[in-house]
Amino acid sequence: MRFLVCSLLLLSSVQAGAQTYFQQKVDTHIEVRLDDESHFLHGFETIGYTNNSPDTLRHIYLHLWPNAYSSDETRFTAQQVANRNTDFYFSKEEDRGYIDSLDIRIAGVQATPESADGLPDIARIDLPQPLLPGSSIKIETPFRVKIPLVFSRMGHKGQAYYISQWFPKPAVYDSKGWHPMPYSDQGEFFSEIGSYDVEITLPKNYVVMATGNCENAEENAWLDSLSKVPYLAPERPARQIGKWRDSVNSFPPSSGEWKTLRFHEDNIHDFAWFADKRFIVRKDSVEVPAGPGSDAHSVAIYSAALPSEQSYWAKATEYMKQTITYLSEAVGPYPYKTVKAVEGDLKAGDGMEYPTVTVIDRLASFNAVMETLVHEVGHNWFYGLLASNERDYPWIDEGFNTFYERRITNSIKLPMETREAYTSRVEDVLYFNAAATRSDQSLNNTSAAYTKGAYGFDVYYKAANLLAWLEGYMGADSFRAAMKDYYAQWHYRHPYPENIGQIFQKHTNKPLDWLFEGAIRTDRGIDFAIKGARIEKDSTFIRIKNRSHFAAPVRVDAYKDSNIVDSAWSLPFATDTVIGLKSTSATFWRVGNGVPDYFGLNNKYRRQGLLHGRKLRVNGGVGFGMRDNPALFLLPAIGYNVYDGVLVGVIAHNLTLPQNRLRYVLAPMFSFRSDEFAGAGSVGYWIYPRGAIREIVPQLDVKTFHFDSSSVYQTSVLRARYTKVAPSLSFVFRNASPLTPVTRTLTLKAYAIWEESIQFSLDPSDSLSRPHIAGNNFSDYGLLRYTHVNDRTFNPFSYTLEAQLGSGFGKLTAEGRLRIDYNVRGKALHLRGFAGKYIDAGSGAADYSRYWLTTSYAAANDYLYDGMYFGRSEQNGVAARQLSIQEGGGKVSTPGYSLPIGRSDNWLAGINIKTDLPLTSIARLYFDVSSYADAGKVNPSGSRFLYSGGIELHALRDIFLLHVPLIMSGDYHDYLNHMHPGTEFINSISFAIQFQNVNWLRLVSSAMKYYLN
Ligand SMILES: [Zn+2]
Repeated sequence: MRFLVCSLLLLSSVQAGAQTYFQQKVDTHIEVRLDDESHFLHGFETIGYTNNSPDTLRHIYLHLWPNAYSSDETRFTAQQVANRNTDFYFSKEEDRGYIDSLDIRIAGVQATPESADGLPDIARIDLPQPLLPGSSIKIETPFRVKIPLVFSRMGHKGQAYYISQWFPKPAVYDSKGWHPMPYSDQGEFFSEIGSYDVEITLPKNYVVMATGNCENAEENAWLDSLSKVPYLAPERPARQIGKWRDSVNSFPPSSGEWKTLRFHEDNIHDFAWFADKRFIVRKDSVEVPAGPGSDAHSVAIYSAALPSEQSYWAKATEYMKQTITYLSEAVGPYPYKTVKAVEGDLKAGDGMEYPTVTVIDRLASFNAVMETLVHEVGHNWFYGLLASNERDYPWIDEGFNTFYERRITNSIKLPMETREAYTSRVEDVLYFNAAATRSDQSLNNTSAAYTKGAYGFDVYYKAANLLAWLEGYMGADSFRAAMKDYYAQWHYRHPYPENIGQIFQKHTNKPLDWLFEGAIRTDRGIDFAIKGARIEKDSTFIRIKNRSHFAAPVRVDAYKDSNIVDSAWSLPFATDTVIGLKSTSATFWRVGNGVPDYFGLNNKYRRQGLLHGRKLRVNGGVGFGMRDNPALFLLPAIGYNVYDGVLVGVIAHNLTLPQNRLRYVLAPMFSFRSDEFAGAGSVGYWIYPRGAIREIVPQLDVKTFHFDSSSVYQTSVLRARYTKVAPSLSFVFRNASPLTPVTRTLTLKAYAIWEESIQFSLDPSDSLSRPHIAGNNFSDYGLLRYTHVNDRTFNPFSYTLEAQLGSGFGKLTAEGRLRIDYNVRGKALHLRGFAGKYIDAGSGAADYSRYWLTTSYAAANDYLYDGMYFGRSEQNGVAARQLSIQEGGGKVSTPGYSLPIGRSDNWLAGINIKTDLPLTSIARLYFDVSSYADAGKVNPSGSRFLYSGGIELHALRDIFLLHVPLIMSGDYHDYLNHMHPGTEFINSISFAIQFQNVNWLRLVSSAMKYYLN
């Protein structure tokens, strides 16, 4: 009996669930006037709010999104700053925006808005009377909007107006409750559906492109006449585009006459408008056939772009037409009577969608405008008609929309992509790389949970690829039927992921859990591998492994030469399966076509041949894109040091996107000065465990160059060589959230180093002291290093703790760096501190002095050979003045002394302070000070400190530094006076190339990080 009760309850709740769908109706009337001198909107809004829920509402939430631009303490600002966009943060007060002058009356009674959670862009309002199910209220308020400069979507640029998310607007209330949300840059919209009736008053010579139908006959006639004015697009010059654009796009004065335009549309969830006096208008129309919820009708198409961009916009209406036609047929009819696209500098990616009107940023090419037009117009379905919650489930709108954008742009660009095999796009490679480096994020996340990069490559590209996978597996007809059903059931409504899953499942007998429960939720890379092929009589059986960590289906194709002769889909399987194919004549098979499989190297199988037909491909330059074969890339290499002279060679590497797990960079080089080989190389293997450690990397670095030379009493130059072999193991720890900008690394490294030495001995034949190469001294060292790097946008910091051990000595060091940002963009105070303890383990020999802690770190201190120096044994000349910002971080060295000053075999501490300067982005002021054990006794002057300060020039993100000291310790002065009389100043200048501890195998990761930031 108990069982029966349970199942009855379950049954009734399922039915209740199916019936609980409701949606509020919100009808909005606004009268608004644009003040284009001080950039204000003066409006009055009347909202008709109908409670269709089964609940009695006692309060409502209103979005006041212009307030997102009111201070640098809004959620919008916090997110922009975290995403490294500080434009708004550093903006001037007068360029920001807000909404005020509200006097909210509900059913005639004044209501007081209270900010929700302290957020200025959400107001909570207690209703004077509870709003019963089925009843309506009228909410009225005047409002005033200060239009900000464009920082994110809404704003103005001169007298170009992009008016979106601009009026008080109720948050959605649905079966999941209230959805109040602050405005955000990364993360879009969710709004109630209803009718909009908006009257806009502004000077007469503005072209207004707004949501809905313009009801002024005179205005429509004017737009018609504008659209027929022949326009010769001004020719783009090759250079000084900015200057040319400004002159072509200059603003005409605003007309003294005013007009009031009335726009109306039903069944929409937002209203945006764009006003510009310079727009070149083009008009076209398209017939939309009848379908669910709408009769056959004509749609007026408008494009409006600035004069300078006409060449890129020449076919805009044509592309809009193709998009409307394609989606009306593939998904469901476009029910509205207008579709518009304007060009505007919206600062929201390449473009932004609003119901029936979209805005396209100024883009760099004809194709980019085409693709963005298709994308944004497509959003009329995926966010407009199928009004999902974009903020919480961003993949639903962007995924479906990107899926169709690709279909439409492919049909426009035919026959560019007619190949059957899966061809990866540039964008997909970003997702594949995230999967390959295990930094991918699940699609089951809200917008705010994504890194800026993942919001692009997961929400858009991975999602679009998953839908293409679903379509391949279901079959195009079933997929199309499901999409039409999705439209029929959910247009003008708020679908959730579960609703979509249910509809697709209705249209196929095959199970779809793998997509909606598996692929959508996984953050693990999708990877299938062919393990073998067996031909039996008239069939071929392909053994396939699923390495995706969830059950999923895959397609296998049989190829004869390069043509597909047979294909089959498996059912979803978790680990292994066998797929039978009828053809037996294939020369090879491939798995994963049409599947976003990030790892191509195991997708192809040939029965004969080494590695089943995989061949190493050798390419020039750098690599990019999906490959079935491993690739080796070759680049020319050139190097220089004082002893080898110019070295010429080749860089052989496999650094590519998506990144390999086995990575190598080898740079063998030849010196024509020494007639010998030299070079460096690294090879590492990336292991990605789950759990607390995200990367384990065993790595081997090797390096050999000459580091000293002598030609004293010699006919040929003698050169001493060092050779380093350094295996290491590093661990990168996982952060709790992918948004945390912290990298924590523990490295264990061992060094085996052979150094030849040049020694002098008396030649008995002529009694001259001649040099010779004496032996190959072997040293070994070990180190343990922990680094913590917090790369947050403001005030980033890092610290490194290190223990080194060599035979006869040990060293414990700590280094910290902190950048304190000034309240001026790009200007900061840079602090560095160092403290170290040297432990003498039995040898005080002079040879050991190079291991001691040092104030000014030069090549002679780099006994681990981790840096790059032009001259490792120089005491004079330019090469002798290369220093590194290590240990004490000092900028003056005294290599001419047999025991340079500022060294310690006990303890040493130093502080380096630098400040950026106004008016220059290449120069700073710096000051260094250090002290160490017995400094007062060791320093010739008896001073307990060494200091220097002056000007630093920096380039390439501080990799190259030049230091010009202006003040310095007396001990340094004395050295310069003594060693370089008359040229003290020039000899005090030093430079640094900060390449120590750079891991070349991480080069692509670093470049990606830089690019995605
Ligand atoms: Zn989009």
